[in-house]
Amino acid sequence: MAVSPFLLLRLRSHLTKPFHLFNFSFSTTTPPKPPPIQVSLTDSIGRAVFATRPIPTGDLIHTAEPAVSHPSPSALYPVCYSCLTRLPASLPQRFPFCSHHCHQRSKEYYDVEMKADWTDFDNYCRNQGLKYPFLVKRLVCMVISGVSRSDSLDILQPANLTPEMILEMEKGFTLLRNAFTKTLIADEQIAFLTKQWYIGVLARIRINAFRVELAGGGSYADLLSSAFASVEAEAAVGNAVYILPSFYNHDCDPNAHIIWIDNAKAKLKALRDIDEGEELRICYIDASMDRDARRELLFQGFGFQCNCSRCLHGD
Ligand SMILES: [Zn+2]
Ligand SMILES: [Zn+2]
Repeated sequence: MAVSPFLLLRLRSHLTKPFHLFNFSFSTTTPPKPPPIQVSLTDSIGRAVFATRPIPTGDLIHTAEPAVSHPSPSALYPVCYSCLTRLPASLPQRFPFCSHHCHQRSKEYYDVEMKADWTDFDNYCRNQGLKYPFLVKRLVCMVISGVSRSDSLDILQPANLTPEMILEMEKGFTLLRNAFTKTLIADEQIAFLTKQWYIGVLARIRINAFRVELAGGGSYADLLSSAFASVEAEAAVGNAVYILPSFYNHDCDPNAHIIWIDNAKAKLKALRDIDEGEELRICYIDASMDRDARRELLFQGFGFQCNCSRCLHGD
């Protein structure tokens, strides 16, 4: 039987993914394409994300699951402990998952977390208004349970820390470490949890964590096609760290945007027509602030002077 050149092409392009071969070859629907991006190291701006083909306005560029996520300690709504979707008020509070699926995929690290007494650690973070140590706590439980690696965030850029920041982090570390040493978890399972590791992880979370704000409500198509999804002020449900979205550089007039529809799965979408080879950038802060406020926030929060064309033109 003659095989059409088109089918051959599709077969060949998916040879590296043998598990998907049948889906793609015999499905009548369009096969999923790899995201139209590539991460490259440049001389001028370091690591950056570029479009590998033209991307039209409103297109979903790719999605990303968090490497680690945690509900916001100040969330106004109860949210799923795993995916951060809002929980219906009818669900019993003792079961913090939206579904059997979320319970199953979180079971290992949730069981580890439930073995320790978090009173001192949680109280400390709440009293100090800290949210990022909760992400480290989650990551530690994920590493102990074997669902994540202790070096899983090493690829991300760390923040520059002042001695005061390190001193504050050391308190959090001591409380976190104490919570585990009082449990039956074997010492060798938490051997990775050193002060240096804790500070290194927190330094990365500090400049790479996203505040997850759900844009849910409207239809999925509406949310993807609107220029900016409208986000309610009280929509923040948690914080999360992603790998690929963290490689996007900042621009005060970005051509890409990250949105969350109803859970922590991030969706990167094009805000305008993007050319092949163009760098994709997102805005790390509220783009509606004036130039001086933006530059100050970017320098304080992320450690760089913004030289985007908006800032250079005094806009
Ligand atoms: Zn969930
Ligand atoms: Zn700028």
